[in-house]
Amino acid sequence: MNILFLGAPGCGKGTQSKIIIKEFGIPQISTGDLLREEIKGGSNLGKEIQDIMSTGKFVSDDLVLSLVSKKLGQDECKEGFILDGYPRNISQAKSLDSLFIEKNINLEYVFLIDVPFETLIERCTGRLLCTTCDYIGNMDRGEKVGDKCERDNCEPGKLYQREDDKAETVKNRLNVYQEQTAPIIDFYASKGILHKMIGGNDPSILSSKILEIVKS
Ligand code: AMP
Repeated sequence: MNILFLGAPGCGKGTQSKIIIKEFGIPQISTGDLLREEIKGGSNLGKEIQDIMSTGKFVSDDLVLSLVSKKLGQDECKEGFILDGYPRNISQAKSLDSLFIEKNINLEYVFLIDVPFETLIERCTGRLLCTTCDYIGNMDRGEKVGDKCERDNCEPGKLYQREDDKAETVKNRLNVYQEQTAPIIDFYASKGILHKMIGGNDPSILSSKILEIVKS
């Protein structure tokens, strides 16, 4: 099963992907995560990526395409995959189409998670991640930077804020989404594979609706 999640930063693409992973055992391909891995590696390329990400702008289309292409070629993606955060503009959507044709891949579902921008700003600026596991916390639950991760056995996991979740960068990321990513909604709607979902509430309600669609 091949799925793509579309939506503005903080809409819950990552959370929904993780639920689908548990259900179907297919891997998630998150370009944001792949880029952050490159940054962690400390290469010159990683430093360039970090500079771009800290402004909220996009890294180059060629770079993300090569990361995605490499991932899609791996055995773990043979039974399907979840794309999260790619494509993010029309040019990336067209390149992905060509890549799918080349690799004989059929994209079955595109889920757009629609959440009001005010909610997204609150979510992103309050979001806290764990240094060790995939736990996602939030300051509005009283959690703070430096707190120990809530999950059992997650020692030495501590909570931190992503550099690009600071208020000014979040606003830039939402502007970039509006200008560059929103136009690809029509691109997928015209292919008849787009499902518009209302997000922003309990993630389990949204995931049960998504699972109902993919299992039908
Ligand atoms: P995310 O973790 O998906 O919110 O992505 C974090 C940042 O990584 C974005 O604000 C961009 O700077 C960069 N990024 C992630 N995916 C892409 C992409 N498909 N194209 C260009 N830049 C990306």
